[in-house]
Formats: sequence, C-alpha cells, structure tokens
Amino acid sequence: MKHIHIVRPSFKTSGIFKRAAGGFTAAAVLCVALSYGGAYAEEEPSVDDIQQTIEQIEQQNEQRRDELDQLGDKISENQQALDDVAELLNDQKELVDYYNNLVYYKEIEIDDTQTEIEKLDKDIKEVEAQIAEAQKQVEQLEAENADNLEKFAEIVRAMYMQSDADLFSILAGSDDFYEMSVGAEVLNNITEKNIEFMDELKADIERLEQSKRQLSEQKEQLSAKQEDYIAQEQKLTAEKDELLGLQSDSQAAADSYQNDYNNYQSAIDQLEQQQSDLHYMINVSEEEIAALEEEVRQMILAAQKPPESELQDGMEWMWPLSTNFHMITCHFGYDPDMDRYHRGTDIGDGGIYGANIYSTKGGTVIIANGSYGWNGGYGKYVVVDHGGGYTSLYAHMSAVYVSEGQEVSQGEVLGAVGDTGWATGPHLHFEIRINGDAVDALGYINVP
Ligand SMILES: [Zn+2]
Repeated sequence: MKHIHIVRPSFKTSGIFKRAAGGFTAAAVLCVALSYGGAYAEEEPSVDDIQQTIEQIEQQNEQRRDELDQLGDKISENQQALDDVAELLNDQKELVDYYNNLVYYKEIEIDDTQTEIEKLDKDIKEVEAQIAEAQKQVEQLEAENADNLEKFAEIVRAMYMQSDADLFSILAGSDDFYEMSVGAEVLNNITEKNIEFMDELKADIERLEQSKRQLSEQKEQLSAKQEDYIAQEQKLTAEKDELLGLQSDSQAAADSYQNDYNNYQSAIDQLEQQQSDLHYMINVSEEEIAALEEEVRQMILAAQKPPESELQDGMEWMWPLSTNFHMITCHFGYDPDMDRYHRGTDIGDGGIYGANIYSTKGGTVIIANGSYGWNGGYGKYVVVDHGGGYTSLYAHMSAVYVSEGQEVSQGEVLGAVGDTGWATGPHLHFEIRINGDAVDALGYINVP
C-alpha cells in the first residue's frame, strides 16, 4: 500500500534548483493520494508538508496504540469472566452428571420392581388357573354325583313299582325294609355300593374345595405382595420425577452458563480481530512513514545538488565538488617530493570540510563504506560504477549519504568532505578507474 508517486524532473531541466538555493523547496513533483488524509493534491508538497503528514500518521498510530491498550484491558476482563464462568459451567456439568446418575439408578430400581410385579402377575394367573381347574373338577364330580343319584332313584323307583315297599323306607335303608322286601338282598347291595360311592365323591369334592380355599389364600397373599410392589413402584417413580426436575433445572443452569461462555468467547474473538486489524494498520502506516521518510531524504538530497550554473555544459564527467572548491593539493601520479605514487587527485580548499561531494557521473553505488570505518587509508569512501569498466572513488569523507546498490544520477550528493583515513587535513581524494586501474581524473574533467 504505497500511495506516494514521485515524478522527478530530469536533472538540468529547469531553474528549480536556483529556487531551492534560497529557502528550501522540494525539487520534485509529488502526486499524493493518501488514504488516511483523504486529500488529493496535485501541487508539489514541501518537505514540511510530508513531515506534517508523517506526524499525522504517527498521531494516528498513537491513537491506535491507545486503542490496543484498551482492547488488551477489555480482553483481560472478558478472559477473567470467561474463566469464572468456565468454572461455574464445569461444576454445573458435574451436577447434571450427578443427577443423570441418580435418575439412571432410580430407573434400574423401577425396572426391578416392575419385574417383580410381572412375576407376581404370572404367579397369580397360575394360581387362578389352578383354582379354575379345581372348580372344574368339583363341577365334574358334582355332575357325576347328580347323575348317580338319578340312576339310583330310577332303580328304587322300578323296585317300588314291583313291591309294596315304602319309598321312604327304601330310601332310609332301614333294617325293616330289608326284611320286608322280596329283593331286599339285591337292593341292600346296590344301596350300600351307592352310598359308598357317593361318600367318596363327597370326600373328593371336599378335598377340592379345601384346595380351592388354599389356592385363594395363596392368591390373596400374592396379590397383597404385588400391591406392595406397585406402591413401591409408584414411590420410586415419584422420586424419579423429582430427580428429573432437579436434573432439568441443573441442565438449564448449565445451558445458561454455556451461553455466557460462548458470548464471552465471541467477544474475545471480536476484540482480538480488532487488535489484529489495528496491528495491521500500524504496520501499514509504519511502512508508509518509512516510504515518506525516504521521499524526504531523496528530496533533501535532490535539493543539495549543485546549482545548474555550476555544471559544465557538454562535459561527460562532472567536477565532484562545488566549483568554489578547485584547489588541487596533490596530483595523480608519481610525486618526487613524497617519493610515492598517488592514485588520485586531492582537492582541498578553505572551508571544504562538510561540503557536498557529487557523483561525477550517473551509475550504481557499489561500495558505500560509510559505517565500516577505515579501509587502506581511504577512511569513509564511496565507489560508483558507471558502466563500461568505469568507476569513480571518493575518499576521506566525513559522512556517507548513499547505500550500496543505490542508483545515483550525475550530481547526486554521495556524502560530505572530511578527513577520515590517512589524511593530514580535510580534502577529497578523487579517483577515476578503468577496469580497476586508476587513471588521471583530470584527463576527463577540467578543473573549474
Ligand atoms: Zn589522495
């Protein structure tokens, strides 16, 4: 997200640098379309304008950091509430489990009771079947008895018809009857057998009736027992209903805590999203600030370029200093006085310390030893590659403004004159090299 587009006028195009010599004015056209400012300016913003924009962005970032602090507090509060409710929720869930268990065991008890009731039901039905069977036998025997009585009556009736025997005497079976009767012997025999048979029947019926009574008693006992179990089942069911009520209440409370928990969690998620958005905006803004600061630096460098009048028209190579500084203190080549070979041209003048050093030609900075200190006596120095095997070197600098890999145009400020390295005083040691071999720079540049 870079919103700054800078269109620089090509070097030497206008008198803009003359203006720049007076109060500082940006030597560039800036098309500013900043998302945060909203303003759209076609005018040339000054360094002050850009610095004001930087300040505004920094203020916005301050506000964002304040918001981040507040968000952090809110997240902490929500986190605390979340932890609290999580504890409550946990306890409540345990309670729900506890009631679930109680209901479970109550249901087992109820099942057991129901099993007993069903078992008793079966027993009662069995006893009832036995009673019914006994009743059936009683009825059969009674029918048999009735039948027998009928047959006996018929025989007596037939005999009565044949004799004068008194029916009542016959039925009574008196000794008188036997003596009186013609077939007394026969009758006596029949009667005895009948009485015997009927007695047996009566005894059987009595036994069956006795058994029926016992079975009925047994049935009543079973029914009473079943009643107890039914009462027990009703009691257990009531207890279970009560437990279900408690279970339902505790579940409702757990649901409510769960709901609170979810709400706190989603609040935290939202706050963290806001945090992340703010961090993102701060990062983007800091990139914008860095870009703007780089523009300011470039504008300052551009403004420091020599006035156009100082450029020598038609020269491929440019004098590396303001034309005010042109005293050669040591030429290229063998110096018999010093008995040494000098690889460059030394330029030193009064007031030269801190003066801008200009790139003699456009190219790429390949060494910017600004912060590395000493190197073979050069001190802080810069090398610019101009292509075609040509390089230029600037030594003993007090400050280096460019960095390695940077593209520089002719006249761009590389640094300031100093006395670092092996220097007896402030001066620029300037070299031009072809394929790494130093040549006399004054063969390419006229001394102004
Ligand atoms: Zn030198």
